[in-house]
Amino acid sequence: MIFLFTANCLLITEFNMARYTGPKCRRCRKEGIPLFLKGERCETIKCPITKKKGPPGPHKKFRKKPTEYSEQLRAKQQVKRTYGVMEKQFRRYFHNAAKHKGKTGLNLLLVLEMRLDNVVKKLGFASSLAAARQVVLHKHIKVNGKTVNIPSYEVKINDKIQITNSLKENLFVKKSMEISSQKGISPWLSLDMENLTGTVIRQPVREEMAIPYNEERPKEQLIVELYSK
Ligand SMILES: [Zn+2]
Repeated sequence: MIFLFTANCLLITEFNMARYTGPKCRRCRKEGIPLFLKGERCETIKCPITKKKGPPGPHKKFRKKPTEYSEQLRAKQQVKRTYGVMEKQFRRYFHNAAKHKGKTGLNLLLVLEMRLDNVVKKLGFASSLAAARQVVLHKHIKVNGKTVNIPSYEVKINDKIQITNSLKENLFVKKSMEISSQKGISPWLSLDMENLTGTVIRQPVREEMAIPYNEERPKEQLIVELYSK
């Protein structure tokens, strides 16, 4: 009976994780870093990470020191949530990364960075990853002149990513383009503002990726450790 109960709960949790609809910045608190799931919000005082310390939820007193496993798990969750990828797909990315030459952890982050939804966000066509995904799914993005509506599409060097004319006057697009042009485009991408076309100049280096680099305990290394168990 107890087993049944736990099994049920797991199902529910998995379901909720897949389509998490709760407060986005609660996840910033959980991971201890701003995840920018709502775009610029995490840079303002609206993101609770600036006020409330520690993870969300009750019973903080009883929380134990992080274990090796919990650190590895958090690293994985943080990366997964940053790029909006679910467990199954994430695992697939990991196994592909392990097959390729070079460091598995770095390969993994690289392929996540090169996802079309991430690049659309980085070019400023959308203010958050969720918005970028929407723009892609609704067929507003062309890669080398062809419509691509797959957010996980992997861009390559020299690919030209363009937003369709119908969105050029869109207020949300205009606003996020404004913000991103103030901040500057990532150096591995270039943007032709007039034609609203971005180009992938090269692959990003580690320091240019969304997950901050931690010299002592690189997150990507923790993920490799977790999956090598
Ligand atoms: Zn936040």
